[in-house]
Amino acid sequence: MQYIIKRSKRRTIALEINSSGQIIVRSPFRISDSFIDQLVQKKKQWILNKIKLINKRILKKVIKRFGEGECFLFLGKKYKLRINQKQKEKIVLNTEICLKEKDKLKIKENILNWYKKEALMYFSKRIKFLASKYDFKYNNIAISNAKKRLGVCNQYNDIRINWRLILSPIEVIDYVIIHELVHTKIKNHSKNYWNSVNLILPNYKKMEKWLKDNREEVFFND
Ligand SMILES: [Zn+2]
Repeated sequence: MQYIIKRSKRRTIALEINSSGQIIVRSPFRISDSFIDQLVQKKKQWILNKIKLINKRILKKVIKRFGEGECFLFLGKKYKLRINQKQKEKIVLNTEICLKEKDKLKIKENILNWYKKEALMYFSKRIKFLASKYDFKYNNIAISNAKKRLGVCNQYNDIRINWRLILSPIEVIDYVIIHELVHTKIKNHSKNYWNSVNLILPNYKKMEKWLKDNREEVFFND
């Protein structure tokens, strides 16, 4: 089994499999190569299981080419991309996403910018509404471009929501917003925290399931 050893001033050993399936051992300086090798052998089954899982994830990855006819999610519904030079507006959403763009290389940029613009408009309004409805106080709202997370609330109660969430159905968006708003009062994921979420959204587990089932589609090309 091949692995990379990275030594540093840390105190403990950690085994890690990165997203391309490489095995990395993070170790303090004083630990010998042979000790590390024994550890890797001992953990062989765990490593193999992890690699299997990562490979599965790589296979499921959704890669968009941004070509005509390709499907894109918006507020939980699928729309085909149509290129139409005759329309006035840059992007029109009806039964399809219609884009006016002559330059094929700019299609991706147009679509991503449109998602981000819609996300900012929709999320700002919705956070304001849900915060006043359920009596939460937050500081700032921003749109994020995070690789993995859809929402985050920091210690100053600034809320950041990933633009990719605009691909989800509105009830899923509400769940992520409520999730972060509850964090303005409770900073952890304790039982108390989940009880508070449950009081507002008794069916929040259904939303989590949607996010899990559609994760690759929401995080396309990442
Ligand atoms: Zn959380």
